[in-house]
Amino acid sequence: MTRIAANLQAVRQRIAAAEHAFSRVPGSVRLLAVSKTWPAECVREALDAGQLAFGESYVQESLAKIASPLLETPAVAPIEWHFIGPLQSNKTRQVSEHFAWAHSVDRLKIAERLSAQRPAVLPPLSVCLQVNVSGEASKSGVAPAEVRDLARRLADLPRLHLRGLMAIPAPSDDFAAQRAPFAQVRELYEQLRGDGLALDTLSMGMSHDIEAAIAEGATLVRVGSAIFGARPVSG
Ligand SMILES: *Cc1c(COP(=O)(O)O)cnc(C)c1O
Repeated sequence: MTRIAANLQAVRQRIAAAEHAFSRVPGSVRLLAVSKTWPAECVREALDAGQLAFGESYVQESLAKIASPLLETPAVAPIEWHFIGPLQSNKTRQVSEHFAWAHSVDRLKIAERLSAQRPAVLPPLSVCLQVNVSGEASKSGVAPAEVRDLARRLADLPRLHLRGLMAIPAPSDDFAAQRAPFAQVRELYEQLRGDGLALDTLSMGMSHDIEAAIAEGATLVRVGSAIFGARPVSG
């Protein structure tokens, strides 16, 4: 077994253990393998170990990877590419053309561009609204007070499929401190579902905090370094 295959197995075990520990339905948490900064060879290794969903943060880097001949003829199904990085207006076309998901939508203008640019031959782009929760390290994400309004507008865009919320809380070593912002996102998510939006995705949890995210209802965790190793550059 390759190092990446072994790491994947260990991460899948962590997810299963957390599902069990926090009374989640077995198999209800999806794993997104975050392959940013890693070459197509590494994606291929994970693919051969049964991983089909991959997350990328940098448009230029990801387009080369997506087109790589190394990733043709996948084992059982085509790769599902998720864009998880900051979204700028001049990158929306490439994201809408080459990705199945965008997790980092935080402005109406970006959402409108993604919807308008989504090719007619593809199904609607699945999107998550990125929420800027308390203690968030980055400046991206919509303020919690604005989530409801923006979610309603996004749900009306014809070529987008609003799936749920995404968040990147500041890292912490303390389990209770990790859980608090995830609980805040979950509350917003439940509110939107109460409003009648048919959402199915809470995209939260990274290598260091997937257990806390799963405890608070994550349905998709985005894991990079625990699968591929420490990234050579930060990001
Ligand atoms: C890099 C990144 C991840 C993965 O982080 P790890 O700590 O390596 O698991 C998850 N989500 C986003 C948005 C990222 O940019």
